[in-house]
Amino acid sequence: MSADLALVNANVHTMNPDQPTAQAVAITKNKIVKVGTNKQIKQLISKNTKVISLDGKTVLPGLIDTHIHVADFGRCLLWLDLTTAESMSDLQSILKEKARQTPIDKWIIGRGWNQNRFKENRMPTTSDLDSAAKDNPVIIYHESAMICSVNTKALQLAGVTKQTSVPKGGSIDKNPKTGEPTGILRDSATNIIWQAVPEPTINELFEATSLACKKITEAGLTSVHWLVLSEIELPIIQKLNAQKRLPFRVNVVVPQKLMGKMANFDTSDALLRFGGVAINVDGYLDSKEAALLEPYSDEPNNSGKLLCTEEGLAASFKQVLAAGVQPIILAMGDKAIDTTLNVIEQTPSQARFRIEQAAVLNKNLVKRLKKQNVVVSVQPKVISTEFTVWSAIKRLGKERARWLHPLKTLIDEGVKVAGGSDCPMEPLSPLLGMQEVVLRAEFPEQRLSVEEALHLYTLDAAYASGEENVKGSIEEGKLADLIILSSDPNAVVPEKIKNISVEMVLVNGRLIIF
Ligand SMILES: [Zn+2]
Repeated sequence: MSADLALVNANVHTMNPDQPTAQAVAITKNKIVKVGTNKQIKQLISKNTKVISLDGKTVLPGLIDTHIHVADFGRCLLWLDLTTAESMSDLQSILKEKARQTPIDKWIIGRGWNQNRFKENRMPTTSDLDSAAKDNPVIIYHESAMICSVNTKALQLAGVTKQTSVPKGGSIDKNPKTGEPTGILRDSATNIIWQAVPEPTINELFEATSLACKKITEAGLTSVHWLVLSEIELPIIQKLNAQKRLPFRVNVVVPQKLMGKMANFDTSDALLRFGGVAINVDGYLDSKEAALLEPYSDEPNNSGKLLCTEEGLAASFKQVLAAGVQPIILAMGDKAIDTTLNVIEQTPSQARFRIEQAAVLNKNLVKRLKKQNVVVSVQPKVISTEFTVWSAIKRLGKERARWLHPLKTLIDEGVKVAGGSDCPMEPLSPLLGMQEVVLRAEFPEQRLSVEEALHLYTLDAAYASGEENVKGSIEEGKLADLIILSSDPNAVVPEKIKNISVEMVLVNGRLIIF
């Protein structure tokens, strides 16, 4: 037998406990056919084999992101990048240039400014933005995405005046003398403007999503769990695949309201799979909508709220399981997780349940997660945002915050933990995600080893969707999904894991070299 592709002289980190390292890998069609020494692989090399000598470079299983919004990531790529602005005039010249290239009246959307980087140390207001771009409505988000600045035209189109009532959980900054809005809106108030921004055309969204796919591959991801937010994304996924512009495997995850649409979704291609249905049990911690067993420490009358009853959740599980797919439960607060477990404990099923985030836990909930074999899918960059952007310790109190994403405790108890990005809310990079869990700043007792961090994005991510027998490690018979890195994450200082470059990606046996 001769292989199609042989990777030799490599540092192969297989994630297979029976054979943790190897020198070489042989691939035929879309499968790994041999993992071993250079000498063993040589026996499979013929004149038809493409041989790549890797000079000691690291080969890992292809990385898997279990929580990403690909089309939204595409949308954000259409936006102006303001992360480089170091002053108000920097920001204004970026805006001015964009306005020059943009037809009058078309919205300009940007993201990434931070007044702490500006020498003026203040947030941009309408007059700052008007002087750079007055003929286009402008909305630019702070890097936290929780604050936006807008110009006069945007305020007018959104109908925001000094009389506009402020929505719950938000604020509109006003000039103390005139009472007029300054153009700075916070938290839920940012939605008032966002609602006035028109959707991109389907063509714009298609091209942007295709660009997002390219960036996802460059980050070393060979599989994603694509959390669909709107119906328009389904034909986009099919068209990308038909045009061979989908360079990775996709587990399509839809909200319950779109479940019916999946009847017409073609999953005959090897790269596409109907991965599951997302079910929301509560809201987010940052807006205090996560359901807690005890009130928020900084708001004694508020414990958040459940979005469904136990009966409702049981009915949802039944419907999703009957369709033969995985229930993917979004539960943040301890009360939401408790409710979810109550229902799982009463559901007769061999299905592999999975909870996204499962943010606020306690000892008992961890034990119950283990007992029910529930997978916890986390987004490591979200964890650091929770502690730094809004103070989780203030919101939950120190004792409860200790149980906010206790990843090490979960893994030590035997709960499978999978990693994702929640891109575009947080950066895409899985290597950055690994670095975050290895270097976690708050409650460092919950830090993971590099090896555990690798599990999050490989074998345990494959386990999260019940695919651990076909991917997630470099083993004979598994799918030929792997990546080649400039350095070994185990061999660099943890602060530099995010800087490792992805040099090649192999998806379903197809090689992409950067
Ligand atoms: Zn998300």
